[in-house]
Amino acid sequence: MTRSSTVSAVAVFLLALAFSTGDAAAADGPGATAVLKWKDGKKAVFLLMFDDSAPTDVKTVIPELKKRGMAGTFYVVPGGGPFKAAQKAWETELPGPGIVYANHTFTHKGTTTPEQLDEELAKCNDGIAKCFPGLKQPRLISFGKPGGVPWTVPKEQVDAALAKHHLIDRPPFKGYPINYKTTEAMLALVDTALAKGEMEYNVFHGVGGDWLVTPTEVFTALLDKLEAHKDDLWVTDTISWHQYTAERKSAEVKVLEAGKDRIRLRLTSKEDPAFYDLPLTLSTQVPPEWKQCRVTQGGKSTTVPTAGGTVRFSAVPGAEEISIQPAGGK
Ligand SMILES: [Zn+2]
Repeated sequence: MTRSSTVSAVAVFLLALAFSTGDAAAADGPGATAVLKWKDGKKAVFLLMFDDSAPTDVKTVIPELKKRGMAGTFYVVPGGGPFKAAQKAWETELPGPGIVYANHTFTHKGTTTPEQLDEELAKCNDGIAKCFPGLKQPRLISFGKPGGVPWTVPKEQVDAALAKHHLIDRPPFKGYPINYKTTEAMLALVDTALAKGEMEYNVFHGVGGDWLVTPTEVFTALLDKLEAHKDDLWVTDTISWHQYTAERKSAEVKVLEAGKDRIRLRLTSKEDPAFYDLPLTLSTQVPPEWKQCRVTQGGKSTTVPTAGGTVRFSAVPGAEEISIQPAGGK
């Protein structure tokens, strides 16, 4: 592979694997770049999802996640009783860093016609937009199909409606107490994620109350275990996981320049940059005498120390080129 060659998505994936196992032999000189499998080089991903805008989300779950600085995705039902009973909290008090709302339809009553489906999705998106006036519109929003209600619109029409409203269907439902019934079973999800280097998740309803209840001690035990593994686990929202995965799968890094004083790269992915704008974590080999680097993309610079002849940084695919230069302390 020459310095100017384009690193294919497959090579990037293999390099990412090599880096994650500490095998530096995959790098082949300054400029050689790996897109790391998960953000910040974490080993695995865990998603916490909460359905139905349950009262215990307001009372217990969101305060606890905020206290721990942990992310969660809330599949809200803005036209349903529980949401309306705490509307002010959902709209103004609960939104915050890492607290992401997702579409669980407007009324959770199911849909039998494409028109009804369209209205349920659109009105739920509108309800979410009201809670996050500062976020860009449109953007990707996670979608969780409501369970236990009529849902008879053919799949192709559902898929088309989801696409129209920028909704991304979430992984299939699984959660305590339907799929897991003990603390041990819940905690084993974390071990599975770490062992496989993949994403695991649990969909909650009530926590310590409401319906399909997860006991508070089971919830707390899970959060404690996630915190204990925070160096290895990326606990994030469903859309961030989706964006990172999709961008990484089609990522290409082109080395534009790999000189003694500067390395320039271009990072692209096949996804639409208007919706897939989550930074990927890259690891680039630099000359061994560079001890610190200034990494610049789109007018934003960060200074990062090198480690083992590589520099690790975040970059957005499809945006401006990336420039890496030795910084003070060379
Ligand atoms: Zn539901």
